[in-house]
Amino acid sequence: MNMITNHMPTEELQALDAAHHMHPFTDANGLAKKGARIITQGKGVWLTDSRGEKIIDGMAGLWCVNIGYGRPELAEVAARQMNELAYYNTFFQTSHVPAIALAAKLAELAPGDLNHVFFAGSGSEANDTNIRLVRRYWQVKDMPEKRVIIARTNGYHGSTMGGGSLGGMSPIHAHGGKIDGIVHIGQPDWWSEGGDMTPEEFGLMRARELEEKILELGVDKVAAFIGEPIQGAGGVIIPPSTYWPEIQRIVDKYGILLIADEVITGFGRTGNWFGSQTFGIRPHIMTIAKGLSSGYQPIGGSIISDEVFNVVAEGGELYHGYTYSGHPVAAAVALENLRIIEEEGIIDHVRNVAHPYLKERWDALTDHPLVGEAKLVGLMGSIALTPNKATRAKFASEAGTVGFRCRERCFANNLIMRHVGDRMIIAPPLVIKPEEIDILITRARKSLDECY
Ligand code: PLP
Repeated sequence: MNMITNHMPTEELQALDAAHHMHPFTDANGLAKKGARIITQGKGVWLTDSRGEKIIDGMAGLWCVNIGYGRPELAEVAARQMNELAYYNTFFQTSHVPAIALAAKLAELAPGDLNHVFFAGSGSEANDTNIRLVRRYWQVKDMPEKRVIIARTNGYHGSTMGGGSLGGMSPIHAHGGKIDGIVHIGQPDWWSEGGDMTPEEFGLMRARELEEKILELGVDKVAAFIGEPIQGAGGVIIPPSTYWPEIQRIVDKYGILLIADEVITGFGRTGNWFGSQTFGIRPHIMTIAKGLSSGYQPIGGSIISDEVFNVVAEGGELYHGYTYSGHPVAAAVALENLRIIEEEGIIDHVRNVAHPYLKERWDALTDHPLVGEAKLVGLMGSIALTPNKATRAKFASEAGTVGFRCRERCFANNLIMRHVGDRMIIAPPLVIKPEEIDILITRARKSLDECY
């Protein structure tokens, strides 16, 4: 077979892709007919495809390329680390400097007493770790019956069997089932589900479903609650201001563990290092991935409180780990990524560029006939498409049709925005500049005009 390179005709690459590469979350036959768009390069917030088109990436890849594409420092660190020590494991009483340094740095950055890091290769794996950790915690405390984890409908926590079960997405459950001991309560999506309530009333009502569920199951059965500070894959659902304080009150009252899934909201996305800081919550465990390495290497993990760590450690060996837990190259790259975020003041940049620059332009999209609400926290936003802004009605056509069309128009206009049903979402690289925000908004508006 000839060498397959960026210089091959796009159609040939597409045919090979369809023949041999099975894509995640994709209708393979549909993709084969259409052909994948083949991305060849990235710099800053810009991607280039195999036809030479320049695309502005409004999604930071999959919410992960926080520092933008093409930073040579990360490539240099990876090469140096590969030459020095390409791999060694952290099982069986060995360690190495990249894992030690990254864990120590994360303990410094994470709020409160979140001082211990268990590494994984991805967010899904880290959430699988969390299932084991919280159940083990109660086992060691001699309360093995406390094993149920409460999560939320339309939450997303990955697509391994554990992560997919924590998530509240029925299409994922339908493909292969769910593991036991995980139950779901409603999500704080006021726009779609809030009815006549104010957002604040609705936020309280949804948070109190946690208390109802704990009482229904019995507190002696409940191990933990897990939630994303802002639901990302569910459509950038920014909860009403009353929601998280009430969740925190309930978690404190019943003494159950709180897991904040910060896979998207971590590392600057919401204008703080972590979304938990933005929403004032105090998790016992945080799930991290994506922005940890800005997607330059696959790495995830759990940042664990002193309390949870000490109890689990008391129980002796934890029978859990991944070959790539704390992979030295991934850890070294993540550490360099954190250095860049810190030294270049990228989180301040997020605050400055998001409010008011992007926020004003994002909110102004609500003057478009299709756009109901526009929501944004930091550099994470959504607009809800509706045929009737006053009633917050949904389109009569099959769910997501208008959103899908809009996403297709964005794609054609060289803007990557995602749709979740009839919500359009953005999460651009955190280094996006005001002039690039203008391009993003102009292309989004043009795409909205073309899709109805
Ligand atoms: N948790 C959240 C909140 C996510 O958004 C994702 C991925 O989008 C995951 C977990 C799963 O991470 P990964 O795809 O790295 O397994």
